[in-house]
Amino acid sequence: MMTDIEISRAATLRPIADVAADLGLPDSAVEPYGRHKAKLTVSSDTGRAPGKLILVTAINPTPAGEGKTTTSIGLADALVRTGRKAVLALREPSLGPCFGTKGGATGGGHAQVTPMEDINLHFTGDFHAITSAHNLLAAMIDNHIHWGNALGLDPRRIMWKRVLDMNDRALRHVVQSLGGVTNGIPRESGFDITVASEVMAILCLADDLADLQARLGRIVVGTTRDRRPVTAADLNADGAMAVLLKDAIKPNLVQTLEGTPALIHGGPFANIAHGCNSVIATRTALSLADYVVTEAGFGADLGAEKFFDIKCRQAGLATAAAVIVATVRALKMNGGVAKADLAQPDLAAVRRGAVNLLRHIENVQQFGVPVVVAINHFGTDTAEETAAIQAIVAERGVEAIPCRHWAEGGAGAVELAEAVAALADTPSQFRTIYDDALPLQAKMERVATAIYRADGIAPTPAVVRQLAEWDAAGYGALPVCMAKTQYSFSADPTLLGAPVGHVVPIREVRLAAGAGFVVAVCGDVMTMPGLPRVPAADAMRLHADGAIEGLF
Ligand code: ADP
Ligand code: MG
Repeated sequence: MMTDIEISRAATLRPIADVAADLGLPDSAVEPYGRHKAKLTVSSDTGRAPGKLILVTAINPTPAGEGKTTTSIGLADALVRTGRKAVLALREPSLGPCFGTKGGATGGGHAQVTPMEDINLHFTGDFHAITSAHNLLAAMIDNHIHWGNALGLDPRRIMWKRVLDMNDRALRHVVQSLGGVTNGIPRESGFDITVASEVMAILCLADDLADLQARLGRIVVGTTRDRRPVTAADLNADGAMAVLLKDAIKPNLVQTLEGTPALIHGGPFANIAHGCNSVIATRTALSLADYVVTEAGFGADLGAEKFFDIKCRQAGLATAAAVIVATVRALKMNGGVAKADLAQPDLAAVRRGAVNLLRHIENVQQFGVPVVVAINHFGTDTAEETAAIQAIVAERGVEAIPCRHWAEGGAGAVELAEAVAALADTPSQFRTIYDDALPLQAKMERVATAIYRADGIAPTPAVVRQLAEWDAAGYGALPVCMAKTQYSFSADPTLLGAPVGHVVPIREVRLAAGAGFVVAVCGDVMTMPGLPRVPAADAMRLHADGAIEGLF
C-alpha cells in the first residue's frame, strides 16, 4: 500500500495560476510562491453572492484523530465532482505534531491537499512570521524593563511568554536574563508552541490589516504592581508586529490531489484558542465559491462550539450545514473498548458508544445548523457496525453516510456531497448559544450545561474575582474560549460516551484581549507539548534526490 507522501508525490499538480484562474481570480490577485502555492490578495467583495459555509466537525476522538481533515478534503472533491463550485478552507499544520505523534495535517490516502511536504513543513512562512511577531513583543517587554521600566510593569506579573513552533518540553519553564546586569532583570518565564500564541488567534480572527494592528495593540502583556493592565500598544509594539505579519495575513492557495482549490491559512490551537483557519481565508473562499468546506479542531463539544460562538459571532458568519465525522473505532472507544482492541468487530460497543454521537448531533442542532453524519470508513469496519450507526441516528431523523474518500478520493464521498448540498441549500437559522451581554461566568456555565451537559461549573474563588474584575473593566462582552480535554464531554478525559452528573472545574482564566475572548482553563492544558518516546522525526530521511521519506 502506498503511503500518504507516495500518493501525494505521484499526483500531477496543476500550476497554481490555473487553479486561481478557475476561481475567476485576476493575475494581480495572485502572488505565486513557487509553482504550486500562492498567496491571494482578494477583497472579499467579488460581487458574487456569498457561498454556503459547511463545517466539518467530529465526535470525541481517539488519539489518532477521526479524519475531519481527510473528510473535509474528500467532501470538497466530491462537491466539485458533482458539478458544484467548492473551495476548502483549512488550518496550517504545526511542526510540533508533525515531528511528534500525530504526523502532518494535510489529510490522508486519496483525500489530501498538496504539495503535502511544503504545507506540513515551512509552507509560505506564516508560522515564522507569527513566531517573530510574538517574540518581538517579548523582546520589547524585557527591553522596556531593562531601560528603566517607565510603564511600571511588574516583572512577576508578565503573562507574555516566548513561542517556538516545535514540541520542546525543555522550554516550558525557564529562568531568563541570567548572567549579569547587561542581560536584563532575571525572571521566570517559558515558551509556548507557536499555535498557542495569541498572535496566531489574532491573525485568524482579524478582518483586515487595520483590524490586525488594532487587535495586536490590545494584547495585555502583564500588569503593573497595582494590577493595571499593560498592553502591546503601551509598549509601541503593535506597529512593528503588524509589519512582520503583512504577508502572513494573506491566505494561501493550494489544491487537493484532484485539483480542488484549498485555502490553507492560520492554525490556532483548539484548546486555549478557537481552533480554525483564518476569517480572512473563510471570507475569501465564500466570495469565490458556492460551497466552502471548513474544519474545526477536536470534537464538536470544543471545535464546533468555538467555531460558532467565537469565529462566526466575531466575523458575522452563518453556518449552513455541519458534517459530524464518526468512525466505528472511535464509537467503540466511547463504548468502553481499549485502544489496542479497536480493530476487533464489536457491535455492542458501537451501539453503546453511539450515545456520544447522538449528543453531538443534538448539540450542533442547538445552533440551528442542520447535520449529516459521515462514517469515515476504515478497513476494519464491518457492514453490521456501519448499519447499526445508520439505524441509531435515523431514529433522530439524521442521515449517516458511509464514506470511502480515504481509499477512493472524491468518488468515495459523492453520496455525502449530495446530502450536504441538499442540507446547505435549505434555509436554516444559525444562532450562537449565548448572548454577548451575558456576564463571563454565566457564559461559561451556559456552555458547560448546554453543551457538556454538566450540572454546573466550579470556578476557584480567584477565578470568580478575576471574571468580575474583567466584567467591570469592559471585557464582559467577549465570548469565552473553553480549554478542556478533547476526549470527553467532561473535564475528565477518562469519562467517555455521554457522561452526566459532572461538574466542570474552572481552574484559571486568561484574557486574550487582542484575539477577543476569555479563556477558561478546565483542566491540565498543555501549551508546549513534548515529543513522545519514539517521535515521528525518528523515521524521517532525505534521499539524495531531495525526496522526503517518513513524513506520513
Ligand atoms: P483529524 O482532522 O480529525 O485530526 P485527519 O483527517 O488528520 O483527522 O486523520 C487522522 C489520520 O487518520 C491521518 O493520518 C489520516 O491519513 C488517517 N485516516 C483518515 N481517514 C482514514 C481512513 N478512512 N482509513 C485509514 N486512515 C485514515
Ligand atoms: Mg484535522
